[in-house]
Amino acid sequence: MKTPERLYEGYLFDLDGTIYLGDELLPGAKRLVLKLRELEKKVVFLTNNPTKDPERYAEKLTKLGLETPPEEVVNTVVTMTGWLLQNHPEAVVYPISEDPLKNSLREAGIRMSENPEEIDIVIASYDRGFEYRKLQIAFDAIWFHKRARLVTTNPDRYCPFPGGRGEPDAAAIVGAIEACTGARCEVNVGKPDPIMLKTIMDLVGLDPKDCVVVGDRLYTEIRMALDAGMPSAVVLTGDTRPEDLDEEPEENHPDYVLSRIDHLVPGNLRREFGWADA
Ligand SMILES: [Mg+2]
Repeated sequence: MKTPERLYEGYLFDLDGTIYLGDELLPGAKRLVLKLRELEKKVVFLTNNPTKDPERYAEKLTKLGLETPPEEVVNTVVTMTGWLLQNHPEAVVYPISEDPLKNSLREAGIRMSENPEEIDIVIASYDRGFEYRKLQIAFDAIWFHKRARLVTTNPDRYCPFPGGRGEPDAAAIVGAIEACTGARCEVNVGKPDPIMLKTIMDLVGLDPKDCVVVGDRLYTEIRMALDAGMPSAVVLTGDTRPEDLDEEPEENHPDYVLSRIDHLVPGNLRREFGWADA
């Protein structure tokens, strides 16, 4: 285990497997986050799931005992809206998505249309209301009118459920559109793409080297941090086992490996805070 010897200005946390597992906070998560806030560090929670508003995640964290404002939660609804505002504020977009993304785009003043003749960007997202009519609009905008680009909120093939089942995610929608148009999806604003981090850094206004990305998956959060040149920490309370690290070449290793999340705080400070069990 290699733990930090300093505190950072900003902490970007994955949620599942990092802060909570199912419906329980992981050991040390609450006191860590409360302490970081007390020390006036920036705390942001990250998730790829675009089917919920940040408010829902904030409510879940609050219900689990970690009171959190929605502004501290960044999902791909937030990063897609931010990416469009920064890069294509005038574009007419067609979101194949559920309501949270549409609501966010509307609030940001981004124009949406179902008319293929004026669509500049088709956004493929996790949409449980997906149907042939939507595929036809995307097809006409991209293939027939040859004007729209294809982007996606997140690259996930499926969203895992407790108990082993899951639900087809945004990659299924991207796949359907790519298959009929021959177009390739050009942009993904979710993990592991560094666009997610860049958008967040622009939103929080911190220098990436002063922030650490913390998660339980080597191929999502840690990959994203490595590709963006940012400090990173894997916590072994979720997806990654110690032997997974042994199998990975050194260049895929994060800066820190933690057995529990509150080990993000250097040992001397943990003693000072009276965290005897950590
Ligand atoms: Mg996770």
